[in-house]
Parts: sequence; structure tokens; C-alpha cells
Amino acid sequence: MLLPVEEALERILASITRLEPEQVALSEASGRVLARPITSQEDVPPFANSAMDGYALRSSDTQSATTQEPRRLRLVGIVQAGKVAERLLEDGEAMRILTGAPVPPGANAVIQQELTKNGEGWVEVEAPVAESNNIRHAGEDIRRGTLVLAEGAALGPSEIGVLASLGVTTVTVYRRPVVAILATGDELVEIDQPLLPGQIHNSNSYLVAAAVARAGGVPRPLGIARDQVEELRAKLQAAQQADLILTSGGVSVGDYDLVKDIMREQGTIDFWRVNLRPGKPLAFGKLGNTPLLGLPGNPVSAAVTFELFARPVLRKMQGFAQVLRPLVQARLLHDIQESSQRRHYVRALVELQQGAFVARTTGPQDSHILTSMLGANALLVIPENSPPIQAGETVQAMLHVEGLYEALGSR
Ligand code: AMP
Ligand code: MG
Repeated sequence: MLLPVEEALERILASITRLEPEQVALSEASGRVLARPITSQEDVPPFANSAMDGYALRSSDTQSATTQEPRRLRLVGIVQAGKVAERLLEDGEAMRILTGAPVPPGANAVIQQELTKNGEGWVEVEAPVAESNNIRHAGEDIRRGTLVLAEGAALGPSEIGVLASLGVTTVTVYRRPVVAILATGDELVEIDQPLLPGQIHNSNSYLVAAAVARAGGVPRPLGIARDQVEELRAKLQAAQQADLILTSGGVSVGDYDLVKDIMREQGTIDFWRVNLRPGKPLAFGKLGNTPLLGLPGNPVSAAVTFELFARPVLRKMQGFAQVLRPLVQARLLHDIQESSQRRHYVRALVELQQGAFVARTTGPQDSHILTSMLGANALLVIPENSPPIQAGETVQAMLHVEGLYEALGSR
């Protein structure tokens, strides 16, 4: 039986729980998810202050002011940002004030300096100044006691900035998952080794490590395990310290029994044939208590199944509410001739044309053509048993938002 993609994902996610919270410095918190809500302990801004360079005054003093009969006020001092007024403002007085400086007690409005005339010891106003004019009141941004960010909020630059404005120095966030990455295969050698006949470089571990890091995880590459029981057993044993184990290779029919035996011995495992292309063979189980996803060996299949299954797992572990990539509608710029009984994920470049998404594929789509991933920022989702699709038709695209910026930026 071929398992539908959604069902495979659902089964995997059902057994994944968020990791425990940890405290991190605010400066380290970008990209993390809040595990505790943040309630403001103070007002932001903490005091009423001026939005302009100008003069603090009493609104009531200016009510009769006109161009013909300006109201002249006595200038009694200056208050700069970071300082406080030396005295109370009285009737008929004004104080020079700079942007961000506290409004002196007694004043209730600020007029910007461009709208005034001034001389030695005085300033003139030619129109009434409304109460609160150019005053940023205490708590106008954040009032003490309000919920600023809820549990589950994803922290980016805006959230970090708001928390810094509150003087928050550390936050409680969900821990980043440590991901053990193991390549399997007798044909593999590390990238710094010359290739002997029959050998290829282990590219999957590098691709997967980069994808793990981009998904917020901490990659722990464990090298290559030969297709031998002892070596696989030893390496998988070491992998159990991690929060997730990602293997590649050894899940297709030829290797099936080897991995299965070890998994049976040390945990539980299901081998699934998932109804997708590329990446049909997929293993999922637990080694001890550590979830394991066995990605296919073919590099493109490994990359696609990482996107579809491993990335959502890592997002869920980190507490993100949104674990899936956004799906958008894109208009195909050319035909997709080949049809497939299986769900087909096609590497593509999605761009904007006159404000609408368009998509073109990135060349040969066989699962060993890793360069078909280059220049792609989306996977087109071609439904099971779809007939060939004509240029101009609309398809769903799973968008790498990071890649979209790059595609748009290069225009
Ligand atoms: P397997 O799933 O082990 O049968 O591997 C399927 C295909 O992927 C074979 O052509 C392998 O040589 C290739 N392959 C497996 N693991 C890797 C890897 N780590 N890096 C690059 N290619 C791999
Ligand atoms: Mg293999």
C-alpha cells in the first residue's frame, strides 16, 4: 500500500512533542518561539515626552493667539532628552524642549519650533495649541500590565525590539532540537577524500545539515555508516543522544532488512512506501525514545522528504504553530508533460509577474539530478494521477519564502 503524503505527515507529527523550554538572552532569541507569555512590567514610553523639537507650554495660554495678535510666552529654561525640567511650568511660560525629552510638569502641549517666532527670553505662538499636541504620553506604546506577546509567539526583529523596549533581558523559549545526521552506504566517502572506483561523495549529510540549521535545528553529523550491522548499530547508538535522528539511504528494498533488524532490536520502525515522487521509500520510528526519520538515499529524494517531513518535525519541536510551508497558486509558464500516479513534487522557480505568481521548472527532475534543486524556490505539487498540465494552467506551489526574496531581488 502506498501511504498518502498527508497521512504519513500526520502519523509522524502525532508522535512528536515540543521540546522543553530554556532561558536565553534576548540577543540570542531571534528565530525562537516563546514558551511563556510576556506581560509588560512598565509603561512604554515610561514618561510623557516631546515628539518634536520645540516649546513646551500650557494649551490654555494660547487659546487667543492669532497671526495678528500672537501670544508671547516667557522662556524659562530648556529640557533636553535624558534630562528633566528643573522646575514647574507656570502660566504664561514656555520651555525649550527637544525630541524625547520629558514634558515639564505644568505643561500640556508642545509646539514645533518652525511654527514660532522667538527672541531673547521669549517665544511667540500665532495660533492656539491643542492640549497633548506633540506629546507622546506614558504607556501610549505599551501599558503596564498588558499582554505583549503570547506563548507561542515566534520571535523576530520586531518582537525582539519590543521586548528590548521593555527592558526584558532573557526570555523563555523552546529548545532547539539537536539532530543526528547519519549517511549509510558502502559507496560513500567523505568530501575531502578522493574517489576510488565505485565511490561517490556523501553529499546528503551536508545538504541535510544545512537544511536542519535553516529549519532552526542544531545539526550533529555522525559521518557515514557502512552497510554492516555492527557499524550501523554503533553509530545509531551514539545518535540516541539527539532529539531527532535523520538517516539517509538504506531504506529501499535492497537494504531493507539490515536497518530494520537494528531498529527492531533498539526501538520501533515502520517502513513506508509513500505516494510521492521523488522519495517513495521512507522509514519512521523510534530508537529508544528518539524519533528517527529514514530519508531515501537519492539526494533529491532526501531533500524533498526533508522538506515534507523533517522540517515540520523540527518546527513542531521548536513550538512553531505554523509548521508547513505556505502554499500559493502559481501559473505554469510551460507544459509539464510527464504524468504520474504518485504525487509529484517538481522543483521550480516561482516569481512574480504583474503581481501574480508564475512558475517554471528547473530542468530534469530525476531524483539523482541534484542540480535541479539549484535556482528552485518552490516545489510544485502535482496531484496523484494528474494528466499532463498545459502552460497557463494554475498549480499549487510550496514556497520557500527565503528563496522568493532572492528571486525577486535579482530582478
Ligand atoms: P539507497 O537508498 O541507499 O539505496 O541509495 C539510493 C541512491 O542514493 C544510491 O544511488 C546511493 O548511492 C545514493 N546515496 C545514498 N546515500 C547518499 C549520500 N549520503 N550522498 C549521496 N548519494 C547517496
Ligand atoms: Mg545504500
